[in-house]
Parts: sequence; C-alpha cells; structure tokens
Amino acid sequence: MNIFEEDTPGQFGEFGGKFIPETLSFAIEELENEYSKISTSESFQNSFNNLLKEFVGRPTPLYFAKNLSNHYKGPKIYLKREDLAHLGAHKINNAVGQGLLAKQMGKQRIIAETGAGQHGVATAAICARLGMDCIVYMGEEDIKRQALNVYRMKLLGAKVVSVNTGSKTLKDAINEAMRDWVTNVTDSYYLIGSVIGPHPYPTMVRDFQTIIGIETKKEILKIENKLPDYLLACVGGGSNAIGLFYPFIEDKEVNLIGIEAGGKGINTNQHSATLVKGKIGILHGTKTYIIQDEDGQIIETHSISAGLDYPGVGPEHSYLKEIERAEYVAITDDEALQALALTSKLEGIIPALEPAHALAYLEKLAPKLSSKDIVVIGLSGRGDKDIDTIMQNMSL
Ligand SMILES: *Cc1c(COP(=O)(O)O)cnc(C)c1O
Repeated sequence: MNIFEEDTPGQFGEFGGKFIPETLSFAIEELENEYSKISTSESFQNSFNNLLKEFVGRPTPLYFAKNLSNHYKGPKIYLKREDLAHLGAHKINNAVGQGLLAKQMGKQRIIAETGAGQHGVATAAICARLGMDCIVYMGEEDIKRQALNVYRMKLLGAKVVSVNTGSKTLKDAINEAMRDWVTNVTDSYYLIGSVIGPHPYPTMVRDFQTIIGIETKKEILKIENKLPDYLLACVGGGSNAIGLFYPFIEDKEVNLIGIEAGGKGINTNQHSATLVKGKIGILHGTKTYIIQDEDGQIIETHSISAGLDYPGVGPEHSYLKEIERAEYVAITDDEALQALALTSKLEGIIPALEPAHALAYLEKLAPKLSSKDIVVIGLSGRGDKDIDTIMQNMSL
C-alpha cells in the first residue's frame, strides 16, 4: 500500500490519494508524470479542442426549459444538453481526453470498464477514431440491461468481456479491468470513466469534464447576465456533476446540489446513495464515502439506472460534502421515472434515467424558489439506452 501524504496533488482534504498495489505503482507514476507534461502542451490542447468541436459536437446548448419552468411556477429552469453530445452522453468528453493522452503516451491497447455502457461506447468510439485496440469489461448483469450499448461497442470495433464475479455490475468490472492493467501494464492504458480510482484519475477526469461547467458559465452569463442560483446534477461516480460544479466552486452564491440514486428508498438496503448513507473507507484505490457494512464489506447497491449503480463516489465530492460547499440528496427509482415522463411530455426531450434523478429533485426544490431564481440542471444523457427498462417499469 502506498499511502498518500496530505497536501499533495490528488488529495481532497482527507479524501482521495492513491491506495494501490505495488504492481501498479510504476504505471500510476508514469501516468501522473505524462499527464502533467502532455495535458498542458499546446499540441494536446489543440487536438483536444478540435475533437471536442468536430467529433463531440461542442459546445452543447444551454436550453431554457420553458414548459418545465411554467409547470413548477417557480424558478427559471435551464438544461445543459449533454444528451446532444456525440453518442448521447457526457462520457465522450473524458474518453476523448484520455484517448488522446494514451495515444501521445504511445499506448496501443486501451482497457475500460463500463456500467451503463455509455463509457464503453465512448471509449470504443475514440479508440476507433485514433486507431487503438479497445477491451471493455462489463458486468453480466449490465450486459443484460444494456444490450443495445453492447452491440454499439462491438460495432465500433471493441472487444466486450463479460464479468460474472460479485454483483456482476460496475464495481466488479472495475476489479477485472484493474487486474488486466496489472498484467499488461507496459503496452496498456486504463481509461477510467468517472472521477474515481487512484490519483491522478479523479483530477484528470474532472479536468476533461470541466468543459461542461466552463460552457455553462459562459452561456448563462450571456443569456441572464448573472450566475445561476442552483446547479443540480446526478452523481454516480460524480464526473458530470463535478464537471458542471467545478468552475463555480469559488462562486459561493451558487448552490451546488448532487443527486444520488435512492433506489427503492434510502431506508431499504436497495439504493446507491453513497454520500447520503455511506461511510468513509477505501475502494478502487481512493479514500472516499462507500456503501459498506459494519465490517467494511461493500454492500450490493441498487438503482434503476445502471450509471448510478456504484457503491463509491469521487473523492472530491466527499470533500465538497465535508466542507459543506455542496449538498447531496437522494431520489428514488419511482421519482426518477415520474420526472423522466414529465420532461418527455413537457419538453419533448427524453432524458436518461440518471439525469432524471436530478430533474426529479425539482419537485422538492422548485416550490421553495421564486421567479427570480435560476436553476441549471446537468442533462447528462439521453434516454434511448434506457427505453427497455422504462417500458418494464412504466405502462402508458
Ligand atoms: C455514466 C452516466 C452517469 C453517471 O456517471 P457520473 O460519473 O456520475 O457522471 C450519469 N449520466 C449518464 C447519462 C451516464 O451515462
């Protein structure tokens, strides 16, 4: 174990760090060095910005949800439309950044894990674009839930490996991906899909997703000539949320609210509300809040949305909770489904189940606000991937 010291990069208060086996210390060190060198170079920045523009389709719009705003009779509601990014979710921003980094590091073989399948698809796409091999680890349970995304990955040239250990979901896929990386460390790059894992991943993934918040700030200032009063985003690992929040952290008047998956209720044992109900521990190389039992064993999580079904959370969110800069709440499966239906009907936009959790929080927040308030919601992805799950849970 390699225990990180305080005040070093990758440390968010007492959270974060790099708790890794000896076998990975060389790879992590190489990544840390290369990331700080390459990511600041002009050639990397130019390539990244070009791909964000031409491949991802950025900037994504900040959309005034007029009908939702009328419905709640309270604040002005805006949606940051990551559902319009290439492949339908924010995941591509990070995949493009790390894909480019891997290419410049001379790695030809990319390993990834995926839960909802969105990160796997995004990674497969950038690997195709940059001509690299792509191996995606995915829990057997998620393969069933997300058949469409499995096919999309294969179409994009990736190899999908089914993981049937543990709960057969994301956390087990991460374990397998890490195992592969330990074995093939010299020619392989592990492309993590959220702000989790050992340093430098939480910082690096945040940096690549910060484009969401940077654009939002520019857009809202242009439209409203003031900063938003509230930012809402769903939190699985926490990448779309930190991407939106980060450029506003110093703006104390902006309230930051992360919405976790309350599953069947936070007083059942079937939820993924890590910051709301978890305890501090170490998972996948980082110190953070974790859903665990008295003995520190991971408890199987549940969410209707595969993308939020993870027992850990990015360490920077644990820190934002600790210092009370951000607030974290939970929304149940049923509440998310209702919000998904409402947004579809009122706005003509079918959100993914993950951001439907953030939309559902409007039921609680909007009645407390006035027409002077501005709320921006991170619409992290579109609902096409979830149609089967939605159909099974909601008859029309
Ligand atoms: C993966 C995913 C999430 C959850 O991941 P974060 O790292 O918490 O952002 C949220 N929304 C969508 C659409 C996703 O695909």
